[in-house]
Amino acid sequence: QKKIIIIGAGVVGCSTAYYLNKMGQRNITVIEQGPLFETGGSTSHAPGLVFQLGFSKVLTTLANQTVETFKELSNKDQPSFYSVGSLEVANTEERLEDLKRKAGVGRSWGMEANILTPEECAQKNSLINPDEILGGLYVASDGIAKPLRAIDEMASFAESCGTKFYGHTEVTDIEVVDGQVKAVETSAGRFEVDLIICCAGFWGPRIGEMVGVTIPLQPIAHQYVFSNDLQELADETEEVTAPLIRDQDNAMYFRQVFNGIGIGSYQHRPLPVEVSEITKYGEAKEMPSVKQFTPEDFFEKPWQDAQKLIPGLKQAGVKRGINGIFSFTPDGMPLLGESQKVRGFWVAEAIWVTHSAGVGKQMAEWIINGAPTLDLELCDINRFDTYAQSPAYYKKRSIENYEKVYDVHHPFMPPETSRDMRVSPYYIRQKTLGAYFNEKSGWEQPQWYEANDWLVAKYEKTILKREGWAAEYWSPIIEAEQLHTRQHAGLYDGTAVKKRLEVRGEGALEFLQQLTTSNMDVPIGHVTSTLMLHELAGIKDEIKVIRTAASTFFVLCTGAVEASWIKKHLPVSSRIVIQDLTAGMCGLGVMGAKASEIMYSLDPQIFVRSEWEIGRAKEVFIGNVPVLAVYDSYAGTERWEFFTTSDQGLQLWDALFEAGREYQLIPVGDRALENLRIESLSLRNGKDFWSEHDPYEVGLDHMVDLNKQTFIGKKALIDRKEKGPKRLLTTLLLDDPSIVVMGYEPVFDEGKVAGFVTSAGYEYSIGKGMVYALLSPKSVNKESELSIEYFGQRYTAKIMTKSTAMTN
Ligand code: FAD
Repeated sequence: QKKIIIIGAGVVGCSTAYYLNKMGQRNITVIEQGPLFETGGSTSHAPGLVFQLGFSKVLTTLANQTVETFKELSNKDQPSFYSVGSLEVANTEERLEDLKRKAGVGRSWGMEANILTPEECAQKNSLINPDEILGGLYVASDGIAKPLRAIDEMASFAESCGTKFYGHTEVTDIEVVDGQVKAVETSAGRFEVDLIICCAGFWGPRIGEMVGVTIPLQPIAHQYVFSNDLQELADETEEVTAPLIRDQDNAMYFRQVFNGIGIGSYQHRPLPVEVSEITKYGEAKEMPSVKQFTPEDFFEKPWQDAQKLIPGLKQAGVKRGINGIFSFTPDGMPLLGESQKVRGFWVAEAIWVTHSAGVGKQMAEWIINGAPTLDLELCDINRFDTYAQSPAYYKKRSIENYEKVYDVHHPFMPPETSRDMRVSPYYIRQKTLGAYFNEKSGWEQPQWYEANDWLVAKYEKTILKREGWAAEYWSPIIEAEQLHTRQHAGLYDGTAVKKRLEVRGEGALEFLQQLTTSNMDVPIGHVTSTLMLHELAGIKDEIKVIRTAASTFFVLCTGAVEASWIKKHLPVSSRIVIQDLTAGMCGLGVMGAKASEIMYSLDPQIFVRSEWEIGRAKEVFIGNVPVLAVYDSYAGTERWEFFTTSDQGLQLWDALFEAGREYQLIPVGDRALENLRIESLSLRNGKDFWSEHDPYEVGLDHMVDLNKQTFIGKKALIDRKEKGPKRLLTTLLLDDPSIVVMGYEPVFDEGKVAGFVTSAGYEYSIGKGMVYALLSPKSVNKESELSIEYFGQRYTAKIMTKSTAMTN
């Protein structure tokens, strides 16, 4: 068995050791610089509030798994989890609406959550002043975790399986040979190792530096205050019986601690801490993860707000407070998995107690089985492109996340800091055309163009006006661009859409054969849309592969995680080169009814129709710009995509724009493109399916060639095919033509949750809201009475049959 070293014995390190052992892994050593097990890290003073439900499915599931684990680790006298329930209260109408949406998303993720009136909230937790709130969200299964008790249990189990824990032992260096971890240097000597799991909390960046891997997290101090005893809690003998409270409008949370209250506040100015400033255990009076309390940050406003919500605090007053340190990341998600840069270097960083044991379980599955059962793409350490690894970027963005942690988050809300990281060569034209930008993988990407405002009047009768939540970060121009592109033509910036790799050299064909589910031995110039599966046959990505020479392939994949997956599978001594061309290359697409006419008018020699068939690619010149031209169909119309080097991108834009003028070609933003995608029944990785799904479940089995001798995941796929699907991706049309939903709403079959919406849009040719939904097969196969819950209201919907689609 592999020799594994876990760095850090906080709740994450111990959870990982526990699950690795549970799954039969041995030969594990845990190295901890502080004392065991109150180590002085963030876990040592975590108040342990567990609010499981969030808009993120992966985080909600990790939290569910943590609660389950902590409950298993409880005994009567020493519970590791108190199921006291939680209340998220609303002070504003906007928040109350957001909580209703959250309750719906909760049902999508299989969690029970209910909206209560102010009086009902006060009945659940009598400390609350109901006059201060408009209502609340109640989750009965939430509660308080006691991570140190759980750690004791988990570590004893690990020790009984042979795991060794070294306290007061600091990891000082890591030896890497030929890109693979070899040994760990510590204050107690050297340990040979095959695999390291860095669970060092906010010290993580320091461990990353030892192997040249960026761990983009920012330690931030956060205020937590203990009140004196409250009269109302005078008779309390238990540590906690009252539900936790979260008051997001005032950026605070509360829990009972015997006869007093613990109060956490995010209201204060951000207090970032440099890793180099953090003391070692024993150097300061307090633990290393605690900075001195700064009363001025608490008493000004948070304390006043706290007393309004819980009037009993006034008489009690404050006993003491801390500024405790924990980690924030640029996108608020944890950092998990093996670094693509150094083999055998795994991380499990920036994780709350709430998600800790779930992470431990998934890490163990990932290490032992080659893939976790849960899709962890959004948490993958390899998701950050080079631009995002600069401290200047990730520190600012992490601090922004801290400040907005309790804001109402709209899915289309753009970030404010660290913008203009990457711009395409057409950026100056897009600005002139009044592009409204959002960020995608660091690129500034137009969402719509104000220059197309004139189209709104033209399509006014057809455009479905959005209201409320759906109308935020929205413009009718999006719909006009969608309608106009279908009828005429649209020019879109494809630079940010996909990552562009060139795979070349002896063995490139065999390498791609192994990685994908389709036959890659196709003639030069062929475009193959195919899948990469992981070992358990979940879909890692849907990719496009273009054979540009006998041993050269141009690969379009979803993003940095998928690119790193491809690179990770390169055999160690291979002569294949994988070059990431993304930064130096740009993409442009022309689509719509007139797309081919435009191209023909531009160059009748090259773009003569008889020379092209769907799924063909050629290297040609447009004017003096060399492009790789790809011809296919999309959204029910023809599409041309062009890739060239960034230096000549602007010329290409101008040439296409000019040629399209007489065909009413318009620049079209990402949002209209997304609507067209949904309308044309095309699926998107990460949105409609992810690595938990197999091709049969989401209707992508036409991309699988089981006659191929081998490919990653083939054996597991045959197994899954035999067992049958666990869910089916289905298209639904809403009966009420005035309703459009946003995504992740629950779908009910005769009153019971049957699944949830993935992508949502509007099908203009039918005149109805359309969604994809992952449903239980039972609900797909019969004449089901389906409905979608949106902001607490149910709207009936029907499965879009082949005949409805055909009449479209
Ligand atoms: P840690 O507990 O910090 O463990 C990392 C360990 O690595 C440390 O013990 C450290 O000594 C060790 N280490 C580091 N470098 C080395 C080295 N070179 N050699 C050897 N060992 C090393 N989360 C919630 O879910 N709910 C809450 O209510 C909550 N409230 C919080 C309130 C406050 C005030 C704070 C500060 C945090 C709160 N958190 C909460 C967050 C939570 O505490 C942390 O996210 C979590 O404890 C992190 O666990 P960890 O195991 O990753 O890190």
